Amino acid sequence: MDIMGKLHVRKDDKVQILAGKDKGKTGKVVTSFPKVGKVLVDGINMATKHKKPRKQGESGGIVKVAMPLAASKVMFVCPHCGKPTRVGRRKLNDGKSTRYCKKCGIEA
Ligand SMILES: [Zn+2]
Repeated sequence: MDIMGKLHVRKDDKVQILAGKDKGKTGKVVTSFPKVGKVLVDGINMATKHKKPRKQGESGGIVKVAMPLAASKVMFVCPHCGKPTRVGRRKLNDGKSTRYCKKCGIEA
């Protein structure tokens, strides 16, 4: 169905989280990883990493970093109607495709 493993969301899309500890939250896609079907969403799926001090005298600490999560766990939020929605694709004459919101029908 998807051409070349493209994801339904891409960089800078607003998405809502459908599952997991961040369920219901929204965030912006920072990076998408179509090959593995994952997306990195700003502020979502935060994991705690213990940072080791690099040099002597520097203190280690705990940093929070966002981890990629399965693209199937996020839903596109339409920038026009503001609703979480499925995206449709329209084929254009030049062979490219364009995405549109299945709720309001406006191109996304
Ligand atoms: Zn819409």
